[in-house]
Amino acid sequence: MKRLVVIGAGPMGLEAALLGVERGYQVTVLERGQVGESLRDWGRVRFFTPFAMNVSPRARALLGPGGPADAALLTGPEMIERVLLPLSASASLAGKVQTQAKVVAVGRARTLRRDLAKNPLRAGRPFRILYEQGGEERVLEAELVLDASGVTRPTYLGVGGQPALGERQVNLHRTLGSVERALPGWAGRRVMLVGHGHSAAHAIAWLAELEQSAPGTKVTWVVRSLNARPCVEVASDPLTERAATVRRANELAAAPPPWLTVLRKAHLESIRGAGPFEVGLSGARTVEVDGIVGLTGYRPELEFLSELPLEISAVSEGARGIQQALANVTDCLKAPALLPKDLESGEPGFYLVGQKAYGRMTAFLLENGRAQLETIFRMVGGQK
Ligand SMILES: Cc1cc2nc3c(=O)[nH]c(=O)nc-3n(C[C@H](O)[C@H](O)[C@H](O)COP(=O)(O)OP(=O)(O)OC[C@H]3O[C@@H](n4cnc5c(N)ncnc54)[C@H](O)[C@@H]3O)c2cc1C
Repeated sequence: MKRLVVIGAGPMGLEAALLGVERGYQVTVLERGQVGESLRDWGRVRFFTPFAMNVSPRARALLGPGGPADAALLTGPEMIERVLLPLSASASLAGKVQTQAKVVAVGRARTLRRDLAKNPLRAGRPFRILYEQGGEERVLEAELVLDASGVTRPTYLGVGGQPALGERQVNLHRTLGSVERALPGWAGRRVMLVGHGHSAAHAIAWLAELEQSAPGTKVTWVVRSLNARPCVEVASDPLTERAATVRRANELAAAPPPWLTVLRKAHLESIRGAGPFEVGLSGARTVEVDGIVGLTGYRPELEFLSELPLEISAVSEGARGIQQALANVTDCLKAPALLPKDLESGEPGFYLVGQKAYGRMTAFLLENGRAQLETIFRMVGGQK
């Protein structure tokens, strides 16, 4: 029986594991935290895609009639409790998901990155996966590895994507969950928000609510865009929650109320102090704030894959084929189907999947990730 190791027990890792079980692989999922770890820190934000778009028919069948309704818009923690944990405990996956198991290196047994380049002999040697669990180092071997470890490293806030001077020494709020926890302490104080993606659109709405309940709260919103409406709007967006969040944020930016200052085409040069912070911005501006929220996106962790000759996109830091295929896609709902060649990683039997495969591109949807997994399993075949 061929062995499959899946890295990460997020929505895509569990779906990959279910597919692997269905195709007769001996499956192990290694998760460095808990099941659904990254969704734990979404705070009260809800999926903007309805539940029916987020899971496969095989997952729904395992959840049974008690699972969420098709139209439900779950929060991250609800997705964990009502979907991911039940799936990991289901008859298909019970005993196969190892938590607190952090993968630290993936390579080929007896084979360096530079050995047997493009030689089919490479594929004949199993993958060797080194991971840490319970304070010990352990090793697994596998014929197929699917890396669904997501994008977990926040990008820097400084000019050109570099750390601003002092940025690496200060504590910033880099997830919506962290922002939600900090909000009560910011009542009547000064907060800086950096970024203009969907997460930043949620954060500005929360800060607006905070100002309503605690007048005197001041917000400086720093965006790289020059647009009056900085958050990207999808024309006739069928995802109504997404459309509403972006619209609200853009309305605030376009006509800022007295508590909000929007700095466009602005970049962080430096952050001084440990709170309050003195933030130096492009144009020799300085702003003093009590808290800094940086929602500028995340990048994948690639270091643990450094012994594999992977074709990583220089642009997205995800799979090169996917970045090339989707380079001009601005609406994730309209992404074309990916072809098998787009999914090849350069290392036979190894695939980046889920959000990680998209790297820093924003066009990822679970629905598209599932289609990728189906294509990969058609390529690699099954044991049944
Ligand atoms: C706030 C927010 C809202 C979103 N809303 C939607 C939406 O409405 N619809 C939609 O389709 N998509 C949405 N997305 C995008 C995407 O679907 C999610 O980010 C989703 O969680 C991606 O799933 P994943 O399984 O690929 O990665 P993740 O959920 O990030 O899972 C990766 C897992 O890998 C683990 N891991 C990382 N490194 C290691 C390691 N070295 N060893 C072992 N395990 C490791 C992590 O702990 C984590 O559990 C949203 C994203 C965010 C942040």
